[in-house]
Amino acid sequence: MIQATHYQAVLIERIDVAANLAVFRFRPAEQLSFAAGQYATIGVAIDGGVIERPYSIVSSPYEPFLEFFVELVPGGVLTPKLWELKLGSSILVRRRIVGHFSLDTHFNRHLMLATVTGVAPFISMLRTHQIEQARGAKLEDRFLVIHGASRSADFGPYLGELDALSRSGWLSYLPTISRPWEEPDWKGERGRIEDVVRKHADRLEFNGTNAVAYACGHPGMVENVKGLLTRACFPKEQIRQEEYFKLHDSRFSNKPPSASQTLIHLA
Ligand SMILES: Cc1cc2nc3c(=O)[nH]c(=O)nc-3n(C[C@H](O)[C@H](O)[C@H](O)COP(=O)(O)OP(=O)(O)OC[C@H]3O[C@@H](n4cnc5c(N)ncnc54)[C@H](O)[C@@H]3O)c2cc1C
Repeated sequence: MIQATHYQAVLIERIDVAANLAVFRFRPAEQLSFAAGQYATIGVAIDGGVIERPYSIVSSPYEPFLEFFVELVPGGVLTPKLWELKLGSSILVRRRIVGHFSLDTHFNRHLMLATVTGVAPFISMLRTHQIEQARGAKLEDRFLVIHGASRSADFGPYLGELDALSRSGWLSYLPTISRPWEEPDWKGERGRIEDVVRKHADRLEFNGTNAVAYACGHPGMVENVKGLLTRACFPKEQIRQEEYFKLHDSRFSNKPPSASQTLIHLA
């Protein structure tokens, strides 16, 4: 039975950030239990089964909705279906929310590196931090978020949100664009995350003796920063990663799977 494994969630808000990027907010049929940084498996019902994929949850566990920041993959199986969703449409969410990409509380300095939608788990952690602090928790954590994208429009609403949060003193937010020649008025950082991470981590004193690094999103960035941070003497166990896809997915030999290959049939 589908109710045993999944519940429904209704689309209540959608922000089209760019032609290939959107923020989706859903009202889940049931109260959710998860840790900031985890991911949900969401899907759409089709031909008696469900097509589903994992997505990091942007919202905090304290918020009453489920938010996702999604990139449309041309020729992909699920994302074109998500793009068809209108307000009031429903998706299916697996009851079990999983993942180990959450805040490492052994350290109170957190170096967070994200390509575009990879900022999702960090937003969840930062919203949670803000809410807990507003409720009176005495938190000593300091965060440095370096958010990379080709162009500034791809940061979506999170540019303004993180900019506002950074005024609180516990967050340094550095959006960086890799195509600055297209935006001569851009005042932020320029270059890829790999180009700027050492400079800012050193300047703000996030290092292997006092910080945990988290890299999320594009596998190329994750691989590159792992090398960079290792050379900067971050111990292996202080570099956490969440890759959103594999660069060379041999299962598909560069061809996206067909819907029938990925359809999960439900009893
Ligand atoms: C733990 C986890 C969390 C994730 N969180 C997010 C998230 O918050 N937001 C988000 O947009 N995605 C996220 N993803 C990726 C997501 O699960 C899907 O893989 C992605 O949305 C593509 O799904 P699809 O069915 O449209 O494409 P598929 O049919 O599954 O993929 C088609 C092909 O495109 C490749 N591919 C998949 N994603 C990309 C990409 N972004 N760029 C280029 N090629 C790609 C695949 O490897 C495959 O070869 C996450 C993945 C994991 C493992």
